[in-house]
Order: sequence, then structure tokens, then C-alpha cells
Amino acid sequence: MHEMWCGADTSGEPIWHVLTADRTLTLCGVEKREEPSGRAPTDKHCFPCMEEFQAAMASTKS
Ligand SMILES: [Zn+2]
Repeated sequence: MHEMWCGADTSGEPIWHVLTADRTLTLCGVEKREEPSGRAPTDKHCFPCMEEFQAAMASTKS
């Protein structure tokens, strides 16, 4: 299943991405890097990742 990963958006703000099945990339194409030092709690979710994730869920349910 897909895992969440807290990375950064284009402006450096912490944001939740969704990882691909092999966990090397996010669904929106951001390369997974080391997590920022310390935990960066955020409620922000990467919109492109969410769209991809929902599309994947919809396709597996049909
Ligand atoms: Zn993303």
C-alpha cells in the first residue's frame, strides 16, 4: 500500500506526500530525500499526490 512521507513543497514548507509502491518517489514526482531535522508536524497535504492517490484508489475499487 501507499505510505505517506513528510517532505517539503517547492517553497520548503513541510508537507505530506504519498510515496509510490517502491518508496523511492512521491506520486507527484518529488524525489524522496532525508526528512527535515526533527519532526515537522503539518496538516498540509500535497495536492498532486492526493489526486494521484485517489485516482489509484478509484481504479482498484472498480
Ligand atoms: Zn507530492
